[in-house]
Amino acid sequence: MTEPHSSPLKKRSLHSVGRGGEPPQTPPGVSRVLQALVEELARLPGIGKKTAERLAYHLLRVPKEEALRLAHAIGEVKESVRHCKTCFHITEGEVCSICLDAERDSGVVCVVEQSKDVYAIEATSSYHGRYHVLLGALAPLDGVEPEHLTIEPLLARIRVGGIHELIIATNPNFEGDGTALLLREKLRGVPDVRVTRIARGIPSGSHIEHVSRTIVQDALEGRREMSD
Ligand SMILES: [Zn+2]
Repeated sequence: MTEPHSSPLKKRSLHSVGRGGEPPQTPPGVSRVLQALVEELARLPGIGKKTAERLAYHLLRVPKEEALRLAHAIGEVKESVRHCKTCFHITEGEVCSICLDAERDSGVVCVVEQSKDVYAIEATSSYHGRYHVLLGALAPLDGVEPEHLTIEPLLARIRVGGIHELIIATNPNFEGDGTALLLREKLRGVPDVRVTRIARGIPSGSHIEHVSRTIVQDALEGRREMSD
């Protein structure tokens, strides 16, 4: 799922907390604190109201230390995990391990929508270049405009020099294809940078993160020049 999009579930749960973020209405006889936990869990993607309730009651039953470990892990992620200042992949330091790896080919940059796609491509062990994470895909109807993506930092990386190929590995769906075309447009006139698009293998409309390693590898190897 693309990060800036909100799922129908998310919309429903947001609606249930009321407009303007006022506290949820607690049904009579229900603990206000427990209800608040259910509401927070139900905001998570793929978690419906029923699952949120089941998880909340589970957390209520488990030993305190176990539940607090989860809370601590969430806190740690929010405190220490950030985006790499070069490629925007998720990292714990300023720069991610992929950008720091001198063994990797810095002349080839694979452009993906999210860090999840980096993990999917890394799982194939067949790609040895660098990445650039756009942090989403173009979706004007959902309010995701070019300036919300990391396109400018990508262009800045290219301006510095040393990049000779950009593999556009956005998802082969409406948003991903639109983003690929926008990038192609932005890169028009940039000399000495070959722009390719992954194609073969990944079914149209699907997400890279959900397809098998072999298919991802196949799609990378079968990349084609993006025509003008
Ligand atoms: Zn990086």
